[in-house]
Amino acid sequence: MQNTKPHAALLASPGMGHLIPVLELGKRLVTYHGFHVTLFVVATDASTTQSLLKEPYPNINIITLPLVDISGLIDPAATVVTKLAVMMRETLPSLRSAILALKSPPTALIVDLFGTKAFAVAEEFNMLKYVFDTSNAWFFAITIYVPTIDRNLEDKHIIQKQPLRIPGCKSVRFEDTLPAYLDRNDQTYIEYKRIGIEMPMADGILMNTWEDLEPTTLGALRDFQMLGRVAKAPVYPIGPLARPVGPSVPRNQVLNWLDNQPYESVIYVSFGSGGTLSSEQMAELAWGLELSKQRFVWVVRPPVDNDADGAFFNLDDGSEGIPSFLPEGFLDRTSEVGLAVPMWAPQVEILAHPSVGGFLSHCGWNSTLESIANGVPMIAWPLYAEQKMNATILTEELGVAVQPKTLASERVVVRAEIETMVRKIMEDEEGFGIRKRVNELKHSGEKALSSKGGSSYNSLSQIAKQCELSLH
Ligand code: UDP
Repeated sequence: MQNTKPHAALLASPGMGHLIPVLELGKRLVTYHGFHVTLFVVATDASTTQSLLKEPYPNINIITLPLVDISGLIDPAATVVTKLAVMMRETLPSLRSAILALKSPPTALIVDLFGTKAFAVAEEFNMLKYVFDTSNAWFFAITIYVPTIDRNLEDKHIIQKQPLRIPGCKSVRFEDTLPAYLDRNDQTYIEYKRIGIEMPMADGILMNTWEDLEPTTLGALRDFQMLGRVAKAPVYPIGPLARPVGPSVPRNQVLNWLDNQPYESVIYVSFGSGGTLSSEQMAELAWGLELSKQRFVWVVRPPVDNDADGAFFNLDDGSEGIPSFLPEGFLDRTSEVGLAVPMWAPQVEILAHPSVGGFLSHCGWNSTLESIANGVPMIAWPLYAEQKMNATILTEELGVAVQPKTLASERVVVRAEIETMVRKIMEDEEGFGIRKRVNELKHSGEKALSSKGGSSYNSLSQIAKQCELSLH
């Protein structure tokens, strides 16, 4: 019998920052564009990944690929990027077998940034191949421009620390570039360069952004000469994928606590799925929150210099559970106004809660979009990866965030500066302006996703059409 529904196979690399948007893409393909989806995930023992995958998702078949032992293949001190790249490469044989074992062959394979080696598998099975860059267009532009930089040797940027020009796009300041772009002998640089060459080989490039958010960069990306691209893969902005399709998480302690707080009175503090601070920085942050006298929800993780290494505390566990790395008495003094949540919190639901009025964030792109999609102003506190670029977009281009000035000098941000910033977005005149702008962006994002002619909705419809055509 002829298949009538297009079937997309999605491949997510390990890490919640990759899995969450890939899963959301799958849900949208199923809910709005008539797809059947198979989601391939590399097994990890992260409890957050496991609990996300435990949920039933109608018409999404989740297949876990075995985790490959890569310890003998890389330097133990290798960066996360290198580890992910090697892991995804080593997973290819099991991906291939899993696709072969499917009852109906998928029409298309959609991989994230780290999965482009799987294009070979897609070609072998005559599938369309797409890459979903879960970040923004500006980051995508620099990634595919890396091979050209490599040819031209951008010495000014590297030696004289000048801004890095990306034709047609905003330049990237030296201090905002990833260290990986600066060292041609670094394995991370080599992997990025490879990814930059492979991504444009796709039949289409999906991005978690939208036309009205990054019109200039998207325009540059469509001008194939400009970025030295040889392959003419069309660019599809499909975002913001930031508000989950389907049921939300059940009520829990944090959401119940938020129910009892005044409208837009709480600042939410979180550094993404893995971000951590030094113990000195953490203590300053605690003091800054306390001095600001604002209500807060803070997702607390052990500091990076903590010997305890993952042996985490339980904040509900009486005095013994109170972590030594928070200032003495902090939890008691703030118990009326604040909630410190260990390790992980239901972020999307928190940001959507009417009591939340600000977000101190590490500016991971998912967190950024989740804040915008809920009209929540931000304090941009980037830590790693492309987060400094994201913070620049938020503060300088969109005007929806403030940023600690001290971060640029890589010193500890002290309590007084934190107190001032928190007050600025929660109480001050400047905060009202930011709130107004972020709400305008929220509506712009909603418009892009609308089934009544929204640009991002139309992008996914075009992909659906390509897949349907290849069924016949
Ligand atoms: N997240 C969450 N609860 C947490 C921390 C993170 O639900 O306590 C989710 C967050 O909503 C986002 C993702 O994990 O969807 C993190 O992605 P992001 O791109 O912001 O940062 P990354 O973790 O990749 O650095």
